[in-house]
Amino acid sequence: MSEAGHSHLASPPEAGARFVLAEADLKALFGALEARGYQIMGPTLRDGAIVYENLASVDDLPRGWTDDQDGGTYRLKRRRDAALFGYAVGPHSWKKLLLQPAVRLWRARLNGAGFEILDEPRETARYAFIGVRSCELHAIAIQDRVLLEGPYVDPLYRALRQDAFIVAVNCGRAGGTCFCVSMNTGPRVTFGFDLALTEIIQGRRHYFLVTVGSERGAGILNGVPHTEATAAEQRAEEKVVAGAARQMGRTMDTTGIKELLYSNYDHPRWDEVADRCLTCGNCTNVCPTCFCTTIEDTTDLKGQHAERWQRWDSCFTMGFSYIHGGSIRASARARYRQWMVHKLATWIDQFGTSGCVGCGRCITWCPVGIDITEEVRAIRATDQTADLGRVERGRTA
Ligand code: SF4
Ligand code: SF4
Repeated sequence: MSEAGHSHLASPPEAGARFVLAEADLKALFGALEARGYQIMGPTLRDGAIVYENLASVDDLPRGWTDDQDGGTYRLKRRRDAALFGYAVGPHSWKKLLLQPAVRLWRARLNGAGFEILDEPRETARYAFIGVRSCELHAIAIQDRVLLEGPYVDPLYRALRQDAFIVAVNCGRAGGTCFCVSMNTGPRVTFGFDLALTEIIQGRRHYFLVTVGSERGAGILNGVPHTEATAAEQRAEEKVVAGAARQMGRTMDTTGIKELLYSNYDHPRWDEVADRCLTCGNCTNVCPTCFCTTIEDTTDLKGQHAERWQRWDSCFTMGFSYIHGGSIRASARARYRQWMVHKLATWIDQFGTSGCVGCGRCITWCPVGIDITEEVRAIRATDQTADLGRVERGRTA
């Protein structure tokens, strides 16, 4: 229960207001979410990594664990304290819950002369996401733009997304492959959350500074013991987030990046990276913004029953760009270039933002350690059309 002096406020907290929640009262936050029917999803240890799964209680959080990340490397290690959110993002992103890897769209059975389409029961969970980082909020906003705000709305994504309650966490530590500062997507959360927590450990005192982001968040917090944040607690919070910002494992210079990539389609670096790339598609699977899906139709052997499935796809497969007669992007060079130029350049033309939020997952989980920040640096250092590029950039400026 709460420490002495902690209380529920008489009037509900307002959006933007900042409070303190004792670490021992995180249980009460979980309880308040469960009481409102939310299924709690958050970070937990599994198979040597911190992944997003259903959390039965606060005890499932990765208390006292952190990670070492680098190109093609991820290792869990013990922290010296009992931090619950003292790790950087792992292989999972919230994409796996909002835009699910495999969804059956419909079923049909043979019925006399034709097919009868069967009802597809669609049970959408009401998720509470615990521990959403700033780069991940930016990634969700990018997927919203594609799946909700374009001409075609994905109804399952919409149902899951509109109900999702988001408990964000400001990063107190950056991972070895993080570069959100370069992409202007973190480490402080600035939008898109119901409640945002910053974990603060000062000697024996362990607490969270809570920012209210929505009325829904205020309603939940109202049922949880909390106090108003003092000036000293707010200063401690600023220090935690500033520490993460100073500690980025990677950087990327994004100046004129669209023009840089557009004017270097024939750069020899694409051949070098293609020599290493296995075209396995890990980078697209772990990327929180990649949204491509494919459709698969199946039937049983007797032709009585048919199903249509939507599955995650990857621009690294041959089938992705297959049209009658063959694949448009048959080489690894063409596929890697397509992926990187889409993330950092064509995405800007399509959706008005970069397709990369600097989470570093594609670097950590690439089995051969290909690093998008290094690829940009290499192309920039040997810009094949530097003079032409400057002229073109001058024209568009
Ligand atoms: S860049 Fe790495 S993760 Fe992506 S397809 Fe190539 S080998 Fe796989
Ligand atoms: S491209 Fe890589 S660093 Fe950028 S958002 Fe995707 S996984 Fe993260």
